[in-house]
Formats: sequence, structure tokens, C-alpha cells
Amino acid sequence: MDTKCKELQLLLMDIHYGEGKMSEKVREHLAECIDCQVYWQEIQELKGILAPLDFDPDISHTDIDNALLRGKKRETVFELFQFVVVGLIYLVMVFLVSKRVNPNYYFYYQGFLYLTLPLFSLPIFFRRIKKEDSHG
Ligand SMILES: [Zn+2]
Repeated sequence: MDTKCKELQLLLMDIHYGEGKMSEKVREHLAECIDCQVYWQEIQELKGILAPLDFDPDISHTDIDNALLRGKKRETVFELFQFVVVGLIYLVMVFLVSKRVNPNYYFYYQGFLYLTLPLFSLPIFFRRIKKEDSHG
């Protein structure tokens, strides 16, 4: 096989996949070269063999989008729930302490709350950062 046939067969492959047009030069060579005729015949037959594989998978992009949205919504609701629970626990603790603890120590308790509240929020904070990382 000479280099001209090699080049032409690459062109034939392009033509076969619809990325090139059958020019007069290609047509003339094809008419007189047995090697290239056989090659052209073979890729035409290949098309028939591969035809059953040439289909678009049945994917519903709307369904995928909806599923992703549902997941996101659920996550948001869960985060809100977590936040509300932590908030309620602190409110109840403040209420209980203000009723039961000696008012002289209430100031220290408040200090303790202000210092520890940010620490208890850290898991929510890190979860949020991790989530935003994974979304790019
Ligand atoms: Zn040829």
C-alpha cells in the first residue's frame, strides 16, 4: 500500500463518519485502486454490523434534575432541622439555668455559653464547607 492509498483511506474514514466529502480526486482513485475499493467496502459493511449499537440511550434529563433537586431540598431541610435543634437546646438550657442556678453565677454561665456556642456550631460549619467543595 503506498502513501497515497494510506492518505486516501484516512479520507475515506472521514467520509464514512460524515466528516468529509467525497471529492472528485477520491472518487477517481477509488475507481482504479482495488486496495482502496476493498477498504471502502469493508468500512461500509462495518457500518451495518455496528448499526444496532448506534442508538441514543433513553435518558430523561428532567428526571435527573428533579432527583438532584429533591436531594438538595432534603439536605437543606436536614440542616435547618439541625440548626433548630441546637438552638432549642441552648434556649432550654438558658431557661433552666436562669430558674435554678444562683443568679450570682448566671453571669459565668452566660460567658460559658458565649464561648462554647461557636464550638458546637463547628460541625455544621465544616459540613457546609465540605459540601461546597464537592459542588466545585
Ligand atoms: Zn488506493
